[in-house]
Formats: sequence, C-alpha cells, structure tokens
Amino acid sequence: MQTPPRSTLTAYRLEYYINFKKPIIKDKKMELPTIDYSFLENLPGDPNKENQPRQVQGALYSEVKPTPVSRPKIVASVDEVADLLGLNHDEFKKTATAEIFAGNKVSSDLSPYAVNYGGHQFGQWAGQLGDGRAITLCEIIGKNNDRWEVQLKGAGRTPYSRTGDGRAVLRSSIREFLCSEAMHHLNIPTTRALTLVDTGEEIVRDMFYDGNPQEERGAIVCRVAPSFIRFGNFELPSYRGDIHLTKKLLDYTIKYHFSHLTNNKTTENTLYENWFFEVCEKTAFLVSEWERVGFVHGVLNTDNMSILGLTIDYGPYGWIDNFDRNWTPNTTDAQYGRYRFGNQPNIAHWNLYQLARAIASLFSSDEPLHAGLQHYKDQYEENRKRVVAAKLGLYRHEKADYDLMEELLCLLEKAEADMTIFFRLLQDIDMNFPSADHFESAFYNEVKKKEFFQSFNRWLGKYVIRVKADKLDSDSRYQIMCSNNPKYILRNYLAQQAIDQANNGDFSQVENLLDVMRNPYDDQPENSHLFALRPEWAKSKPGCSMLSCSS
Ligand code: AMP
Ligand code: MG
Repeated sequence: MQTPPRSTLTAYRLEYYINFKKPIIKDKKMELPTIDYSFLENLPGDPNKENQPRQVQGALYSEVKPTPVSRPKIVASVDEVADLLGLNHDEFKKTATAEIFAGNKVSSDLSPYAVNYGGHQFGQWAGQLGDGRAITLCEIIGKNNDRWEVQLKGAGRTPYSRTGDGRAVLRSSIREFLCSEAMHHLNIPTTRALTLVDTGEEIVRDMFYDGNPQEERGAIVCRVAPSFIRFGNFELPSYRGDIHLTKKLLDYTIKYHFSHLTNNKTTENTLYENWFFEVCEKTAFLVSEWERVGFVHGVLNTDNMSILGLTIDYGPYGWIDNFDRNWTPNTTDAQYGRYRFGNQPNIAHWNLYQLARAIASLFSSDEPLHAGLQHYKDQYEENRKRVVAAKLGLYRHEKADYDLMEELLCLLEKAEADMTIFFRLLQDIDMNFPSADHFESAFYNEVKKKEFFQSFNRWLGKYVIRVKADKLDSDSRYQIMCSNNPKYILRNYLAQQAIDQANNGDFSQVENLLDVMRNPYDDQPENSHLFALRPEWAKSKPGCSMLSCSS
C-alpha cells in the first residue's frame, strides 16, 4: 500500500500505522480509531530534522523519533483510557504493543514530534524549554469523536533536551501514572495515563542534587490529553517578538480546542477576549478543586500550566496529610515555599498574568486582559464558596460559613489533624451529641489532640447549629459530603510503597492502588487500612515527604 501524503492522514486507521489488529467481538467489528495530526498540519515546524539540542526559532515543534530501549515491558495499563481511544485492552498484554508504547516501533507513516515552548520557572523567565523527553506519537480521534494527543514521556532526547538524557525514572513515572488516574476519578481535570512501560534500562539520577548520583530503573508513561498546550507555548514566541507565530498558535488553539467560542458573528477581538476569560475560568476551577482534596502540584511554573485547565506534569506533587497551608512536598522549593499548598491560587493568578502578557500584543487594549484576570479572582471565590459548602455539607454557602470553615482549618492546622480523615468523618457525626472523640483517628499528635479537644467540641457545637438551620435533609447532606470529601487519596507514602515494590519487579501494588483510586469516594471496606494516618516512618522518608524535581 502506498504511503499517503501527511495532509490526508486524517482518514487513516490507527491499525494501519501501529499494527493494531482488528478487535473482533462475536463477529461484530468494532470501530477502529482514526489518527490525526492537527498540530503538525496547521502550525509551522522546524525544518531542521537533526536531533541535536538547539534553539528552535520560528517553529512550534520539531519532528523527532523516540530512541529505542532495550527490553520494554508494559507493566500497567488503564482500560478506561484505552476505551476512550477505541483501543482493544487485550493488545496491552502483548509484547508487540510494548514495542509501540516504548517508542521502539514507529511505523514509517507516523510523524512523532516534540513541542517547543518556554516558561517562567520559580518566577524567572527561563527561555526555551520544550518537550525535552516527551514525544507525541499522534492524535487519535476517539470513539466519541473527541481528540486525544498520545504522548510518550521518557522516550529519549529531542532538540529540547538541553543537557538532559530524555529519560524518566520508574519512580516518577509510577507517580505520574497513578496520580493522573487518581485525579480523574476524583473528578478533577487532568491528563490521563494509558500505559506504563518498564524500559529494562538503568539511568542515572542525583535524586536530591547532593552529589549522590545513583542508577535507577527507567520507564515511559504514555499519557493522553486533548492537548498538552501550556501557557509557556504562548510565552516563547511572544518573548521572541514573534507576534505572527503567537497568533497562529492562538488561532489553532481556539479552532481545535475552544471551537464552542466561535460563530460567524464573533469578531476576532471578542473571540480572543472570550478565550482568555475561559482559560481564567478553567484555571480558577482547577485550583479550587485541588484545594478541595488537598493536592499540592509542587512546580507551578508556567510551562506546567495547561491551557485547558488540566492538572499536567506530575513531578514533586504531594497530598496534604496533616492540614498545613505552608506545606510543599518539593524540597527544591522548601526555602521560599512559592508553590506551597496555600499559595496555589496566587500563583495561578501570577501565571495567568504571564499568559496575558504573552498575548497582549494581539489585543487592541489591555482592558479585557485585566478583566479576565479579575474574572479569575471572582471565579476562584465562587468556586471556593461551593467547595466550602460541599465539604461542610451545606445547601449553599452563606456569608458566615467562610468564618466557620476558616476556624476549622486553623484548628486542623494547629492540632496537626489529618485533612482527609477529618472531613470524611465529619459526615458521620452524631448531630445530637457531637464530640471530638469521633475524630480520634484523625490526629498525629496526642498532646496537641488533647490541647485542642475542647476547641474542636466548641466548633462542632457551632457546626451542628448551622447544619440544623440548613435547608438540606440529612440524606442529601451525606451524599454531598461523601462525593466531595474523598476517602482514598494517593498519599505520598502509598505511592512510595508501590514504587519500592516495583523497583524489585513487583507491580501488583501499582495495580492495587490504581484500583482503589478508581473509587475514591466509596467506602471500600476491604481497603479501609488505606484510610489511615500517614505512618510515622513516612514523615521523613525521601519520596514520602521530601521530593525533588529530579525525575
Ligand atoms: P519538568 O520539571 O518535568 O516540568 O521539566 C522542565 C523542563 O525540563 C522541560 O522542558 C522538560 O522537557 C525538561 N526535562 C526534564 N527532565 C528532562 C530530561 N531527563 N531530559 C531532557 N529534558 C528534561
Ligand atoms: Mg514540565
């Protein structure tokens, strides 16, 4: 069969490119997914095809092939994500499929590429960054006619690798694989994970940048999202003064990922304004949702901010155990805590401001951009009200509820109580005789528990009065709390235990955790041991409390 020219790729079957066999169920042929290259086909690429680190000017991506690995094996995969893409689950058990998701076998008709972007890292403009170890294989038009970018993270060097090796370690890959799925099932926007491949190769990392490099197992995650476009994609051409390229990217982004904003009557100005508003709105939603469940991203640089408001680039992230707004899991950020839990809303605003600056020259005045940034603040406040009401099980947020919540959060903070356990137990209190005894299992520190016992009782007294005056009946209150206060979160030490076992070749805990995290709001009596305080040993163990950007 003749190779089609790239511009007509859209109609071709994935099967044709990566040798997926037709899944036949009871003689009924399933629809196979189609692949596409909207990014490549609509935007300018790098004419230089050499895979050497360099500054790539005037182009938004470089075509580059993954570098093969020696002994790839799919050690975990996610059936629901395969379903989204219209892929057959059984294929993931086959050796040949591991070759595909390791990047070893790339049909000559595929055009993998790495994307060019820049970013502000820890508040400083860092210039060109780009996909230094992520390579997009293709876009797939999924079974609901939705578009999914399929990307291999850790697939080898690209022109954007700078001094890096283009690889990812198993530890960070398991963390990304598990957490993106956990986040999805918590109903929080996120990139997804399809496969986790053990490459069979060792790579060297200095985990804490302290002069102790060690060999670690390498891995590749196939991750999937409608698009991985970041704020930094807009910043780079803009910083280079290339307004034309910035505009091309914006027009593409709107056409393919915000098409609901376009209609014949909208002028270009209004379209851009509406787009920025929506990005602000999506970001506000995301940040308030992270707060709802106690997620700390850890590295909210502008190159790690999705234009679609997805949680993206799982690195030194962490989950709040004892409630602490100043906590960051990222040791690289320990001194200033720029990305600490309580600062995420401010940082997201700061990042949106950088995005606004990047696109400002496409606007005739700055006013709509300022309005968009204000919209972020307003939306964040609205979402926060919703989160407060939901976590406390109230029909609607009322003015005094902020104070009620604030008082509780201060108590949790001072008493070192566990955020997840406390809020989950709150739904079951005895409304006639509320007592802090009910929260026995939520405290890390006996002395502090005793010290704040009466304060909790006083707070519970106020809470019960508020609940009794509320419109919601008790069943609805229970339902709302149950579906907003998760029982199971991917605590850092749980992920680390799965990593330790996986490093010894046992991936069963990765599978188990993936399964538990599929239903984070359910009671799951068989997994109740995972609804527990972080163990003492995990408080200072690397990977459990201290993480770095080394991955
Ligand atoms: P991250 O901290 O993972 O968001 O990455 C920040 C930048 O560093 C991005 O441009 C990455 O592609 C790049 N990068 C991170 N690790 C590596 C690596 N091992 N090899 C090449 N580039 C990397
Ligand atoms: Mg990144």
